[in-house]
Amino acid sequence: MLPPHRPPVPPPLDIARLVPELAPLARRTTALRPKRGAPTPQESSLGGPLLWPRETPWPFCDRRDHHDGAGTVPPGPVPMVPVLQLFARDVPDLPFPEGTHVLQLLWCTLLHPDEPSEAVRPALHWRTESAIVPSGRPDEVPRPADGEYEADFLPNPCTLSPVEALDHPHRDLPEELRTLVLRAEEEHGFFLTELACVLESKVGGYPAWTQPPDWPSCAAGHRMAHLLSVTGDDEVDMDMGDAGGVYLFVCTECPGMPHASRHDCH
Ligand SMILES: [Zn+2]
Ligand SMILES: [Zn+2]
Repeated sequence: MLPPHRPPVPPPLDIARLVPELAPLARRTTALRPKRGAPTPQESSLGGPLLWPRETPWPFCDRRDHHDGAGTVPPGPVPMVPVLQLFARDVPDLPFPEGTHVLQLLWCTLLHPDEPSEAVRPALHWRTESAIVPSGRPDEVPRPADGEYEADFLPNPCTLSPVEALDHPHRDLPEELRTLVLRAEEEHGFFLTELACVLESKVGGYPAWTQPPDWPSCAAGHRMAHLLSVTGDDEVDMDMGDAGGVYLFVCTECPGMPHASRHDCH
């Protein structure tokens, strides 16, 4: 059983009134709220079929050193799996590059010793919806066979019901505010994470870290921005290590928006 990731939106108490010093740190976020279902390629989804261009070969991971949790290395390349598809109309706050309206996230579910935190290897694709001639048979997409995937990182197909919320730092809380927050928590009987932090799959806001923050920088040295978090979730039937998450970052200053990822767990 995973910890409850889903505080009510909107929260029952106004955190900005209880700890006014937190107000300037508030960021908008879109909680994705996955629910097990049968999304179509024309819908935003988590673990669902992608609106995949017919002329683009399905991506495979050809790393020779990736392995499942038990150390098994498959003999050949392994199909990547769909993790997230987001249409701009469902996530208005997501910074799409000029002319694109669809974000697709895939990853190889195996563990990669050369990736940060030795976890999945993600790939991001920004696409122009009107330019996609969809591949005719989404059910013919290659899926990893036995021994070619790590179940902890293989999501069940889920529809999304995005909800706008205000996010506040949890692991990223500045040290000087920690005492103020602790005092307010004791006085009013709440935890900051129940009230003001969105610790679930989301776009924007703060990364849903379960461990101390580990913000990446791009090759040019810019601190990258949090793009989205995908967290372990019973609904998605994906534990991600031990109730962990994968966090995607982009550099909005460099051309082509280079990305990086981090993974952590309990
Ligand atoms: Zn791989
Ligand atoms: Zn940069």
